[in-house]
Amino acid sequence: MLALQALRQQARRVVEVTILEPRPVLGVGVAYSTSSPVHLLNTRACNMSVTDDPDDFVRWLRAERPRRILNWTRDDFAPRAYFGEYLQARLREACAASHLNVHWLRDPVDAVKRTGDSWEIIPAHGDALPADAVILATGNERPRPLARDLQPAAQSLVIEDPWDAEQKAAIPADAPVLLVGTSLTAVDIALELLHRGHKGPITAISRHGLLPRSHGPLAPAREGLLNALPSSVRALVRHVREVTANDPGGEKWRRVFTDLRGITPSLWRGLSVTERRRFLRHLRVIWDVHRHRLPPLVHSRLQRAITARRLTIVRGRIVAIEPADSQSLRVVSESRGASRVFHVARVVNCTGPELNPANSSNPLLQGLVLDGVARLDALGMGLAVDAESRVIGANGSAHATLFALGALTRGTRWEISAIPELRDQANAVARQLLQTFERRRARVRAAESRTDGSLRMSA
Ligand SMILES: Cc1cc2nc3c(=O)[nH]c(=O)nc-3n(C[C@H](O)[C@H](O)[C@H](O)COP(=O)(O)OP(=O)(O)OC[C@H]3O[C@@H](n4cnc5c(N)ncnc54)[C@H](O)[C@@H]3O)c2cc1C
Repeated sequence: MLALQALRQQARRVVEVTILEPRPVLGVGVAYSTSSPVHLLNTRACNMSVTDDPDDFVRWLRAERPRRILNWTRDDFAPRAYFGEYLQARLREACAASHLNVHWLRDPVDAVKRTGDSWEIIPAHGDALPADAVILATGNERPRPLARDLQPAAQSLVIEDPWDAEQKAAIPADAPVLLVGTSLTAVDIALELLHRGHKGPITAISRHGLLPRSHGPLAPAREGLLNALPSSVRALVRHVREVTANDPGGEKWRRVFTDLRGITPSLWRGLSVTERRRFLRHLRVIWDVHRHRLPPLVHSRLQRAITARRLTIVRGRIVAIEPADSQSLRVVSESRGASRVFHVARVVNCTGPELNPANSSNPLLQGLVLDGVARLDALGMGLAVDAESRVIGANGSAHATLFALGALTRGTRWEISAIPELRDQANAVARQLLQTFERRRARVRAAESRTDGSLRMSA
């Protein structure tokens, strides 16, 4: 998005962009590489454009993936795979623009090193690449493993990466399956299994047992909420409770969360680290289920599966996963002092991404923190960045030409996963980057004219 949306619009000179991405398809990441028709965007089409035109995605849908009856509208929730195709189409157009040279190396990056004023990128294979600026956009890390100490045979029954298509395809259709997590990933996996005819019982378990809520009708944004918002979490909760009193249809709380969307970064910045911790400890789950809502169609499919007892939602914390026999696992959970035992053929880790880059399995992120090029943010949820998304090193100062985008900046911005927020951040980083390049060019020009002068003088 940085390459195509922001640089394309703002660059005045040719910019050479190299994208290092090991996936077979560029631009789709985990979210948009799914081909399952039940995996829908959880954001309305009018919020998914990668250009500044809010109707760009809807127009693309209508032209390229038209529906015969009731063609796409701004309020629709399209399949995620379509968004991946749209993104690639726009990237192809951007690559055709004369002032943007995009190269794609299908290789992971092992390390990024500082060399004087610039950077050296060390890919897993091949030669190091020089770069004037580096943008880290590594997205979500894999979940923290659920079971590390099992023998390989039992380990193969635990699917640690919920997006591993091969492992999911190998789940027998009549097998009892336990999904650990009840949030968006668990919803995706449950519906994917049911769609392809899974007959065995599916259970989803989490500490709170809460499912994401459904989107309602499109609610208009409301003025004035920001002025009323206080800077402590306790007062914030009181305020939201007051605003959403007498709300049987759920229209008010949905409107509050729509309004909060635009002001979340400033609200988050206004909270002290202690307050942010308090929010994460007490309110995160509640926030997530209201803020990250399901398309109504997905929500009703989910409710139907629960009513038909094809999916069961359970509250509890996993305390043990052990082999039962060669084909199944015994999983023990605990909730309020009571234990429960599940015998299942597969466990799928739907606990969400590992937030701490230093604990991730990504050598690039581990190395950046270890070398002191980057440091963790105060909450250990990402890399420390300044207000311009520049990465802050262990010495406390921000690098002028090393940026982080998206999930890596979660600790500083809190809500930075969905396309509208990513688009804003990419735009701002592109502006910042191009200004930095302009300043550097001006310095070089000034230095050259000084050198020319002295040469002329000596001549
Ligand atoms: C399942 C899911 C569904 C989502 N649905 C929506 C939605 O409906 N609407 C919405 O607005 N948002 C949605 N999001 C959030 C958001 O839009 C996506 O996460 C978005 O794809 C983030 O883009 P990204 O480029 O930051 O990260 P990603 O798309 O995750 O891409 C990061 C890429 O970095 C690569 N990478 C990582 N480490 C390295 C390395 N060392 N070297 C080279 N490459 C590396 C990875 O291979 C990966 O492809 C969803 C997210 C998920 C996970």
